[in-house]
Amino acid sequence: MLPNILLKIEEKLKENSLLSDSQLDKFMLLLKRYKKGEWLYPGVLIRKLNITSSNAYKLLDSLKDIGVLEVNYELYCHTCNTFEGTIYETFSQVPNDLHCEGCGIELKPLVNSIVIYKVIIDGEQ
Ligand SMILES: [Zn+2]
Repeated sequence: MLPNILLKIEEKLKENSLLSDSQLDKFMLLLKRYKKGEWLYPGVLIRKLNITSSNAYKLLDSLKDIGVLEVNYELYCHTCNTFEGTIYETFSQVPNDLHCEGCGIELKPLVNSIVIYKVIIDGEQ
């Protein structure tokens, strides 16, 4: 992401004070590496910023609110802790009849869908 977008994000996050100053600095450094069309996983923020999952989702939702991210879905196997690999733009696109390639368990949209966030603006024209 480019400085113009990063500045907009930083202003927004200072308003809602979900992050401490040092967490905010880390987050801005992390965001710099993301480009339009890439996905941000809440799990990455939980680990890198040491925040709760609820705060990670709040953080990502506030970036969605300013039009930087959009919500997508991916199926995740809680048994072998792996992502199925296909990304779905809406929840209704998530198939009902998939099984995990790793352990064969049935993946159910309601149980196994993880919300991930796609970068739709990175400041590049
Ligand atoms: Zn599995």
